[in-house]
Amino acid sequence: MKILIINAGSSSLKYQLLDMTNEKLIAKGNCEKIGLNDPIISYKHDGKEEIFEGAKTHEEAIKKILNILVDKDKGVIKSFDEIGAIGHRVVMGGWLYRESVLIDEKVIKDVEALSDLAPLHNPANAMGIRACEKVMPNTPQVVIFDTAFHTTMPEEAYMYAIKYEDYEKFHIRKYGAHGTSHRYVTQELAKVLGKDVSEVKAITCHLGNGSSITAIRNGQSVDTSMGLTPLQGVVMGTRSGDIDPTVVQFLCSHKNQTVDGVLNYLNKECGLLGVSGVSSDHREVTKAAEKGNKRAELALDLLAYSVKKYVGMYMAILNGADAIVFTGGIGENSAEAREQIVENMENLGVILDKEKNNNFKRGQIELISAPNSKVKIYVIPTDEELMMARDTLNIVKNLKKSK
Ligand code: AMP
Repeated sequence: MKILIINAGSSSLKYQLLDMTNEKLIAKGNCEKIGLNDPIISYKHDGKEEIFEGAKTHEEAIKKILNILVDKDKGVIKSFDEIGAIGHRVVMGGWLYRESVLIDEKVIKDVEALSDLAPLHNPANAMGIRACEKVMPNTPQVVIFDTAFHTTMPEEAYMYAIKYEDYEKFHIRKYGAHGTSHRYVTQELAKVLGKDVSEVKAITCHLGNGSSITAIRNGQSVDTSMGLTPLQGVVMGTRSGDIDPTVVQFLCSHKNQTVDGVLNYLNKECGLLGVSGVSSDHREVTKAAEKGNKRAELALDLLAYSVKKYVGMYMAILNGADAIVFTGGIGENSAEAREQIVENMENLGVILDKEKNNNFKRGQIELISAPNSKVKIYVIPTDEELMMARDTLNIVKNLKKSK
């Protein structure tokens, strides 16, 4: 079966078409600047990339993408009927959704209602779903929630110590994010360890533009660094990560800003970008640090230090781990970041093989710990779209069986 994966943002819509008979990617791209000036659609397949005129609405974007996919000359499928199902990424499933589900009107309404907790993402995600429903009304659709994997966290991990009544009334708690990525690398880790997923005890570090660290016990998330929103946790590309809430009040009064203004600043102007003053991009900051830029060096130190702290916390929570996993753009590609994070942890049984860490073929699973390291260290490339397609396939297969 071929499955279309959709990741809809407010002005973009990323897509991937996968063939699930061999789990191979057929085509992918992004519809950018929807409703803005000069919108475009990128389309990559068989090592080629083409650019098409974009769309004014999400519905138009879906229509255009489908038309490109079935185009007689440039397309990769013959008709829409070849697409057996569509899987949608939804950022916030709150406390309501513990796993991926088949879409019906109630699910869409819930996604919209949860917008309060993810105002930048859920409305756009819902828009993508509604657009697909209109254009492909007979194709089953599935939602994959970023938060679902973290719904196994125990109360003491997800609660903030605020008034219990407020937690109950407003659902203020930790939900986490990147769940699909943490779940994917956990499953891949189980395979390389030769264990059942339910036996995996690990710390997974998804380090990209946005980053989160997760503690995995019995193959399940028992704590994660992101919170009510993705602002909490480690230092990221443009996000500050953990901060004393009083900083918000301080900035409001000293910079004469609103709370919304300061939250925007903490989300978009801080992290690597804010400290280095160079870029939010880890590569750029690394280059600047290598040329002697002290602020860039400091930004990288802050990032690595914040990740190390979470790894240490989770080692304590899990009473040691079988493995530490690095994934995401930085986790998979930056040998320097990985080395900085795990250095000086020998007494916790974490010993890096520096040679292996520096030299291995990118894009594959790699063991980078020394043979005498009690805790194995792996680099595992993430593939959130494949995880989403696997979920979609499983749900649709069961649907067909029960018919
Ligand atoms: P992601 O959000 O997972 O796409 O990751 C984006 C981040 O990965 C950016 O900060 C990139 O600079 C970083 N990244 C990608 N490739 C490399 C690389 N070769 N070395 C260091 N960082 C990289």
